Amino acid sequence: MSTNDLKRKSATPADDAAGGPTKKSRTTKQSKGKKAAQKGYTPVWPEYFNYFKVFKALNTVLAFCSSRKNFAITFPVVRTSVESLLHEPLELAKVAELKALLPEIVNFAYTPRIELRIHGDQQGGSSRRERSPDFSAFRTAGASSSRLNNVDEDEHVLVLDFIDNSRGVKSSNTGFAYALPPALTPAATKKLVERRNNRFVEAVNELLNATPADEDPVALLQSAAQDHIPLHPGAKNTPSASQTNVKGKYRTVPEPEERPTIADVIEKVEQQAWYQAQITYKRVFEAKEGQSATLDPPISDSIAQALRDSRKITSLYTHQVAAINALSLGKNVIVSTSTASGKSVIYQVPLLQFLEADPQSTAIFIYPTKALAQDQRAALQQLLCSCPGLEHVKVSTYDGDTPQELRAGIRETASVIFTNFDMIHASILPHEDTWRRFLKNLKIVAVDELHYYYGIFGSHVAQVTRRLRRVCAAVGNRRTRFVSCSATISKPAQHMRNIFGIENIEEVTEDGAPSGRKDFLVWNPPLKDPMDPSLGRIHSMTEATRLMRFLMARGVRVILFCKIRKSCELAMKALRQELSADGRLDILDRVMSYRGGYSQEDRRRIEREAFSGNLLGIVATNALELGVDIGVLDAVIMLGFPMGGLASFRQQAGRAGRRARDALAVFVADALPVDQHYINNPEELFDRSTNDLMVDLDSKVILEAHLQCAAHEIPLTGEDEKYFGPNMKDICETKLEKDREGWYHTHPRYLPYPAKHVSIRGIEEEKYSVVDVTRVGRPGGTAQILEEIELSRALFEIYEGAVFIHQGLTFLVQEVSHDTKMAKLVRSDVNWITEPRDFTNVDALQTYRIRELRGSPHRAFYGRIELFTLVYGYFKLRNKAIIDAVDLDTPPWQRETTGMWLDVPKPVLDLMKDSGMNPAEAIHAAQHAFLNRFALAADLRTECKVPEKEYKASASQRKRPARLIFYEPSGKSGGVAVKAFDHVNSILRDAHDRVETCDCEEGCAACVDSPSCKEGNLVSSKMGALIILKALLGLPIDVDLIRQQSDTVSDAFNTVVEATSVRVAEGVEVESA
Ligand SMILES: [Zn+2]
Ligand SMILES: [Zn+2]
Repeated sequence: MSTNDLKRKSATPADDAAGGPTKKSRTTKQSKGKKAAQKGYTPVWPEYFNYFKVFKALNTVLAFCSSRKNFAITFPVVRTSVESLLHEPLELAKVAELKALLPEIVNFAYTPRIELRIHGDQQGGSSRRERSPDFSAFRTAGASSSRLNNVDEDEHVLVLDFIDNSRGVKSSNTGFAYALPPALTPAATKKLVERRNNRFVEAVNELLNATPADEDPVALLQSAAQDHIPLHPGAKNTPSASQTNVKGKYRTVPEPEERPTIADVIEKVEQQAWYQAQITYKRVFEAKEGQSATLDPPISDSIAQALRDSRKITSLYTHQVAAINALSLGKNVIVSTSTASGKSVIYQVPLLQFLEADPQSTAIFIYPTKALAQDQRAALQQLLCSCPGLEHVKVSTYDGDTPQELRAGIRETASVIFTNFDMIHASILPHEDTWRRFLKNLKIVAVDELHYYYGIFGSHVAQVTRRLRRVCAAVGNRRTRFVSCSATISKPAQHMRNIFGIENIEEVTEDGAPSGRKDFLVWNPPLKDPMDPSLGRIHSMTEATRLMRFLMARGVRVILFCKIRKSCELAMKALRQELSADGRLDILDRVMSYRGGYSQEDRRRIEREAFSGNLLGIVATNALELGVDIGVLDAVIMLGFPMGGLASFRQQAGRAGRRARDALAVFVADALPVDQHYINNPEELFDRSTNDLMVDLDSKVILEAHLQCAAHEIPLTGEDEKYFGPNMKDICETKLEKDREGWYHTHPRYLPYPAKHVSIRGIEEEKYSVVDVTRVGRPGGTAQILEEIELSRALFEIYEGAVFIHQGLTFLVQEVSHDTKMAKLVRSDVNWITEPRDFTNVDALQTYRIRELRGSPHRAFYGRIELFTLVYGYFKLRNKAIIDAVDLDTPPWQRETTGMWLDVPKPVLDLMKDSGMNPAEAIHAAQHAFLNRFALAADLRTECKVPEKEYKASASQRKRPARLIFYEPSGKSGGVAVKAFDHVNSILRDAHDRVETCDCEEGCAACVDSPSCKEGNLVSSKMGALIILKALLGLPIDVDLIRQQSDTVSDAFNTVVEATSVRVAEGVEVESA
């Protein structure tokens, strides 16, 4: 939305680009003692403002138009109606003045014509449902994803509309009703018109009160309105037109060196009219001087020279020195400090020292992503080239993309390889005979971002490192040292010990690097209407993108982190629209989105642009959490609390800021329970310790898999327990083959390549190609692959009729083939988005194990689970309102996995129903309470309850069993569900105690809410969870817990029914608690 303002005259040009009116003049007003205005003092209106009648007429016409569904509200249409009401012409300038007065309400901008063509577009606004949309209408000329900022110059129309909240009848439920939104009733329309008229009166009063005595309010308004005369997007071809305001002042984005300080920017934010005390908490981390130290023993002259010449490094920081000294004493090292504090030197200097001492030395460097590895390889190569005597050391990348014909050469001649654990597991260790030279001389293994390895993946990695150490020892090398850096984590040395199975670890946590000042803000979106809190808060995305535009206009480079891919694209789409409406195409050209799903090529291009400083803004998912070097960022905005929890939050916040500059991090809270928990307890964001990173060394599933591999590398003996732990023996006896001499060999069913049977990252999903066919059939036009999407996402994103968003541009899915796994899309600027209507049932199929619950007659179950997903249609949404519901005939997606479950006892279910409690809320909350107390929960899922389904206005056909159920995502079996099952007694008890003793009223992130809940914990009841947990544990339920709810919900509206028993596999015996 464009919100240039009335008072810009007194403000500097840079002040208004992305913002609204500043409050400067209000302050002036107060200093002059005109406080009466705040108490409702109504100034006398100059004659000029009698065009209130113009506003009234416009208001009436627009209210009428919006009551007609899908009515295109173009300026010519509106003008004709207003003119016939007023019997006088409606001038462009006048409308611009209205926009200057009410920038938040009035939308007056050029819009792609295509956006006004609405599917099912009918004057009467019937809710007819169509099965297959007509795509021909949406083709736009010449658009393609390769031209990211494509605008069709001749396809825009001037739109005049009011964009304040015009919601219809409010549903009594928290979720939205399933039906199409009712058109406004005549009474509601009247209320809306009245409210807008009042806003107008208020705005004029504010202007009059705010105008200093020596200025003319009319002149002020007229001059402000100049900036609201809409710019045709075609004007972007002449840059001066998009960057110059009418008075000819050049609007440019300051160069990085010239940007204002963050403190200044925050002050400016607080002066904006749209600033309504959103900042609820501030914390400043003051700038810190670097602290250097000297190495003992000192580095050689040639290494010193290399550091100086290739890095301009003449001294080392304390943490670098501590790490390098410890390595030279023969220790292993973990450095756990804030991001970007010179970690690479910690790996490189020791490597150079080893090479100087012994030119045969070899090293393995491991980075979590290929992009990071590429960056670092180039840096190391450069350092070696500047180091006299080491110029010829060979550094190679050895990963899945390395061509077969190059691999032998690398094995034979490389001194350093940049690789990953997948390659060590599946390519290096199985061929240890060809790697003998390398492994024998392996002096150092550097693993960056060690916090990346946890959960199932981390547990596999832990076994791979043990196999590596074992093979090295077998070829006579027991001297390999391990060095890692990680983000700030709890118990770094313990995590290192778990991952590598080593002792003698030096832990370095003091950060000696200098850092600039960092301002941290917690931002809660304001209420839509302070007089009516029930309307809720302004959407966090609106707030985040406005803040982002404001920062970018001042030359502050911003990264906006979004929780999921879809919100990343929606934010990009919003920025596209808002910056176009602001006439800031110069900024729009410098913003991009970045997320999983984009091709490698696209990602590299965006990374390069970011690194070179071309980009002013990046909208990203947590794909950018890891340290891909994207250059200097000044600010991070986090849109919603990340699904990855506090650790993820701190990682993201750490992405902004470099040594010498100040930086900003802003957490913009969603309305969800977890976000609001941190609004109320902001200190926890900084001070609460994160959960320990868990690695499951006891998992029999994972251990067996790697023992099969290890035995193939070198047959196993009892002595190998020192690598694989006490569980090894038992697995070897039962699952491997023992020969006469007592050696254990791989079981034949894993041969000839056991590593091929063991997937350390889970089975890779099939992918669908998303192909843009807009240009097919045109001269020179070809189809272009936009993205490749995993099957598990494809289902929800690329059904026929879906609006697919890529770089904030909208595409319509024309055709999906499940045989060829391809979706054809056409570029089209539609003004709605789609949301699938779907459900996923998680059903227990067969029981493999049963376990008693201690002190309770109830039991826990483990077994086979079926996941059944059906996308049966979709909604079209415009401004969050449903404009249409379309049915689909997509085949269901079924897959099987393993999991565990607990049935809610019938008496408790009845009790809850009788007292009007919602069992779905109770079950959902209890499930998260359970997962919150299970250390490996990151690799388990649960059936989350969806507010739209639980709170829908009509009775539901779909009934779910009263059951807490947890399952492993299919393709990822690491024995996590078994683990939960084996420890069910302690987890349940722990969950119960936590919920019972938690201080919160309605449930919080410490007890029943989870940042990773797919449905934002909206269906949740702490009390209900406690009742279920008590019942399962056989504890008495205090009658006070059950608050009698006055209106007992009719059974028809209950989505939960008693769980029926599951078929038990033969020979299953009940295990004792
Ligand atoms: Zn709580
Ligand atoms: Zn959930």
